[in-house]
Order: sequence, then C-alpha cells, then structure tokens
Amino acid sequence: MFDVKSPVLTHRYAKLGKPFVYNVPATPLRETPHLLHLNESLSNALGLQPDSLRSKAAIDQLTGNQPWPGYPSVASIYCGHQFGVFVPQLGDGRALLIAEMDTPSGYQQLQLKGAGPTPFSRQGDGRAVLRSSIREYLASEAMHHLGIPTTRALSLTATADPVFRETTETAAVVCRVSPSFLRFGHIEYFTYSNQLDALKTLLLWHIQNQHPELASAHAEDHFEKTLFDWLAWVIQRTAKLMAQWQSVGFCHGVMNTDNMSLLGLTIDYGPYGFIDHFDIDHICNHSDHQGRYSYRNQPQIGHWNLYALAQALSPLLPHGKEDLQSLLDGYVDHFQQAHRDLFCAKLGLNPAQANGFEEDTLKFMHEQQIDFTRFFRSLSVITPELGLEQCWAQWQQSSFFALKLGQSEQVDAGRQWLGHWLALQPNTDGLDAINPAFVLRNHLLQNCIEQSKTGDFSGIEDLYQALIDPFNTKAASADFYGETPEWARSLVLSCSS
Ligand code: AMP
Ligand code: MG
Ligand code: MG
Repeated sequence: MFDVKSPVLTHRYAKLGKPFVYNVPATPLRETPHLLHLNESLSNALGLQPDSLRSKAAIDQLTGNQPWPGYPSVASIYCGHQFGVFVPQLGDGRALLIAEMDTPSGYQQLQLKGAGPTPFSRQGDGRAVLRSSIREYLASEAMHHLGIPTTRALSLTATADPVFRETTETAAVVCRVSPSFLRFGHIEYFTYSNQLDALKTLLLWHIQNQHPELASAHAEDHFEKTLFDWLAWVIQRTAKLMAQWQSVGFCHGVMNTDNMSLLGLTIDYGPYGFIDHFDIDHICNHSDHQGRYSYRNQPQIGHWNLYALAQALSPLLPHGKEDLQSLLDGYVDHFQQAHRDLFCAKLGLNPAQANGFEEDTLKFMHEQQIDFTRFFRSLSVITPELGLEQCWAQWQQSSFFALKLGQSEQVDAGRQWLGHWLALQPNTDGLDAINPAFVLRNHLLQNCIEQSKTGDFSGIEDLYQALIDPFNTKAASADFYGETPEWARSLVLSCSS
C-alpha cells in the first residue's frame, strides 16, 4: 500500500454565489446507476481511492443520486456566440459542479454532465445519452494522453432511464474534472447583461485562483495591467491549443464561444472527430452546414473567439484599445509558430531546415487523401541515410504505410514527396514518441457504442487501454491502428447528445 494524500474539500467557487452560480440539486435517476468505467489513474492523482469510488454510495454521488457530502451543487450562468450569432443567455444546462477540492494535483473542480435540469436548461432535459457520454469520457482522456490540454473525465455511470432524442436512448453521466470550467461565454455574459462590477469580481477571482503570479505582479490598483497580462496569456494558450488540435487532426465541431475554456483547455466534446483521410476542409459536425468549424477554419475561429472575448473585456480596459488590437494581432504569430514547430517535429525536421515543407506535406496529404495519423506514424521506420530507393522499400514495409500502391498517381506523388523530404535530411529517431499510433477514430467509438447498447461495456476498457498509451502499438489489437473501413467513412455526427 502506498500512502495516498486525500483531497481537501473547499467551496471557493460556490462561495461566489449569485449572480455567478446558482444552487441546484442534481435530479436522481430512477433506475439503478452502474459504474461503466472509472479512471483509476486520475482518481489516484486526485488523492481519491479508486476502491472507495466503486462503492454504491460513491456511484450514487457520481451519478447525482446523492449529493457530495458538504457541498451544495451549483450551476453557472454564461452566454455566447453560437455559430457566430450572439445568444444572450446560456449556462450550465446539464452540468452541475458537485465538488471543489485541493488535491495532490492542485485545485480541481468536479462536474457532472447529465445530472438533471438547471435554471439554464432552456428546452433541454438536463440529461446526456450513453452514446455521447462514452464519446466525451474517452475523448477527453485520449486528448490528455496525446499531451493536449483538456478537461479530464473521472467516471462514467449509466442507468436504464429513457432519454428522448431522435429515438429513445438511455441516460449516462460523466464526471468531468478541471481546475476551472469557465468559458469565454462567462465573460461575455456579465458584460452584455451590464454587470461590470460582477465581471470584475469574477475576473479577479479567476486570476487570483488560477494565475496568482499575474495577480501579484501588479498592485490592486493596477487591475487593467493585470487584466491585460492575463488576456495575453489566454491568447497565447488558445493559439497553441489550436495548433495542437491541428497537429493530431482533431476537429472540435462546435467552437462556439461558450465552448472555449479560459484556461485554453479542450472542453465540451460533442460531434468531434479525428480526421482519417486527410481533407483540409473536413467538417465533423453534420449540423455545421457552412463548414464554419471545419479543420481548415479552426485556427481562424480560435482568433475570432478571442476577438469576442477581448470585446467583452474592453469596457474594463478603457485606456488600452490600441494595445488590445496588437495583442489580438499577435495571435497569428503565436499560432503559426506553434503550428510550424509541431508539424516540423512530426517530420523530424527543425523549422529552418523545413523551410515551409510542412505546408507542402499537408497539401500532398490533402490531394492524395492520405490517412493523417498513419502517414506520420509510418515515417519512423525510415532510415534517411539509405537513399530514396531503400527508403521507399522501408516505408512500404511499415504497418502504418498509408499510400495506395494500386494507384500509380499516388505512388508517383508519394515517391516525389519522399524524395523532397529526404533531401531535407530529416531525423527519424524518436518520431514514434511524437506521432501517435492511436487516435480515437469515430468508427472505433461507434463499434464500442453499438456493443455498449447491448449491455456489453468491455469495449470502453479496450479503447481506454489504447488511448492511455497512444504511442505504443502493443496496447491494443491491430484493428485499432488500421485504416477506417469503408462503411465508416460516411459516419455523421450532429449536435444532438
Ligand atoms: P452545447 O452546444 O453542447 O455546447 O450546448 C449549448 C447549451 O445548451 C449549453 O448551455 C448547454 O448547457 C445546453 N444544453 C445542451 N444540451 C442540453 C440538454 N440536454 N439539457 C439542457 N441543456 C442542454
Ligand atoms: Mg457547451
Ligand atoms: Mg455539448
């Protein structure tokens, strides 16, 4: 037995009270909840004993059937720009904060998604279906293990209670974990509802809680300066996050300002998707008819959303309009640099060596519709010093080789690409630790979901084992690393969840 430090409960955020958060009890489900998956490593990292989280009492708490002892669950208010259109009031419509704790991994909040309606549910039922809960639970952990900032997931519970979507489905609850669930939309709400004092209170609280170094850098009476430094941090973080998404072929699908984290975390996993055959204009959300949130557009939308955030902050920055503009302009450089660094690293090149070759590579992959993950992964078998012919032979022997040898045009383009890449003298040592073998492809999730609907939840653990070790092919069966089968290429996902 090793000694696990226990978390210490706190009420820091809940204590803010109205108008920020509203006490809302969870609504118990009727049928017995079952624990479908527990994230043991996160549980340990929080100082929570996995065995105790498997008890009936804990499962009730993780489903919202019983309150977390000593904590009044709360829902927060926010608004946002949805598909570019301002919506004056949204809020936690099906998310409830059930605990705050100082853990061995720092201050963390626990939130249940799908634990019943809140004052912000609008027409919604406050519930989440099994299908979308499996998707969120696994994806947030997959992103974490790819090294991409994200909210985490501690547990997935489910019951037989019916939930009505296009058809009748069943309920599930994900317990999400994050140091903060504040979104750009929280800031927008207090500005556009004319509550600037409240806005200042929330910002001061957030900055003191999450960025104490910024809060102390300037005295109280220099709030503007602190706010400015903080916004610079958010801009830089968001730019990096966008580059990180691009670097693993991740499409979020619903990049509304209410789904953008103030901590630069990936948040709110809905109709997301990891690209298989590379199409720069890929749209993962079937409801996104214009392709506003396509793969190509994600970085620009990140920038657009930061404009919305800065606009909402501008009443508190009366003296800094020009500085604000140049801060926002800086996003482009931050993004481009992070994007260049990440893609060059994927190719075993440094940016000076590559001289823009990373962009040519994406163009080649797009034109030839090459599997994004498999392409990069396949490069690590190549020994560049051996010259074109031997490298071409080596490449084909990779189990990740992604070109279609039956298509002569693709073979020609591929050989040409290889020649250009080798001429840059790439270093393929260690590429296996940069280019994942595994990403959470939609068809793998779809198989897992179909199996789960029959009452067999073993597929969740199978995917979990693969995603916690995405750089290692030993973690799962070969088909987890293979190409997306033909039947799954047309899988579409919508916002309904
Ligand atoms: P999303 O597009 O998933 O980010 O959700 C936008 C807004 O709708 C948020 O305020 C959510 O809390 C709310 N919402 C989504 N689904 C539901 C639901 N089933 N019940 C209540 N509110 C919901
Ligand atoms: Mg949302
Ligand atoms: Mg959502």
